[in-house]
Amino acid sequence: MIVVLKQNVPGEKREQLISWIEGNGLRVHVSEGEFQTVLGLIGDTTRIDMDLIESMEIVERVNRITDPFKRCNRKFHPEDTIVTVGDIRIGHGNFCVMAGPCSVESESQITEVAHAVKAAGADLLRGGAFKPRTSPYDFQGLKADGLTLLKAARKATGLPIVSECMGITDLPLFEDVDVIQIGARNMQNFELLKAVGKMRKPILLKRGLANTLKEFLLSAEYIMSEGNEQVILCERGIRTFDDYTRNTLDLAAVSMLRELTHLPIIVDPSHATGIARLVPPMAMAAAAAGADGLIIEVHNDPLHALCDGAQSLKPEEFEALMGRLKKIREIIAA
Ligand code: PEP
Ligand code: MN
Repeated sequence: MIVVLKQNVPGEKREQLISWIEGNGLRVHVSEGEFQTVLGLIGDTTRIDMDLIESMEIVERVNRITDPFKRCNRKFHPEDTIVTVGDIRIGHGNFCVMAGPCSVESESQITEVAHAVKAAGADLLRGGAFKPRTSPYDFQGLKADGLTLLKAARKATGLPIVSECMGITDLPLFEDVDVIQIGARNMQNFELLKAVGKMRKPILLKRGLANTLKEFLLSAEYIMSEGNEQVILCERGIRTFDDYTRNTLDLAAVSMLRELTHLPIIVDPSHATGIARLVPPMAMAAAAAGADGLIIEVHNDPLHALCDGAQSLKPEEFEALMGRLKKIREIIAA
């Protein structure tokens, strides 16, 4: 249930209403907008008399929200959330590009790619240290050493870093990672979601391979229900019947999610297509569709990459794409 307050309600009256609602065994999420304050009621709202609240002097209207996701729901929080990573803002028109290799492979590889993507205008450096590979015989990532190399590349370039955590036991290693990625395969690892929900740092949550948007948002809700509201959603392609591309990029999800949630939404055209030459057109399509950013795999030597070389852009291709993205962004801003 949401309670929309009238404009310019005195703070004291608002607090009285909140304590009254809490006294009825519900939790209240306050969303303070420029023009409106919305109280989101979480819990068993059948205990509350809607008509009684609606009749209160400070209340403009009351609506019952039937969606199972509350905190990430735009009805609870009408204004876009902006996630901040240092000086970087993501969401509400602030476009952010995360780029780097699928996996951190060596010091020279990650620092070389980091300098290249920075020069091309990337905002964050991505690099997997713990890799969720389909086969146990494939390269599993450099793990803690990979994170150390990634941090060295951050120091060398000033780019904040984003890296995937695959399990709760590894979380302590991520204290100093700027954005923690929860990968597609872990989108419904509820214990991991709850654990990162207890942290106070941005979480990049990728959509599962075969998950609906409702399930995706409920996973975001798991993180937010623990108090961490800094969640960035990432559409990275889903499984369909076609196998020419690695996955099928669900671009409509960007627009649908925009209606359903206030959280920033970015797109991963690399895992969505699996083919480097399809990455620039899909990246541009995502920007044109109004995504809040992109996460793109870039490798200095894709032919010899230990993971996902076929979908990795070379630094010069990434640079060319950044130039084209700038033009697309100018058009949609006009
Ligand atoms: C990745 O970003 O390297 C990755 C494994 O992505 P996903 O979880 O979307 O497959
Ligand atoms: Mn990858």
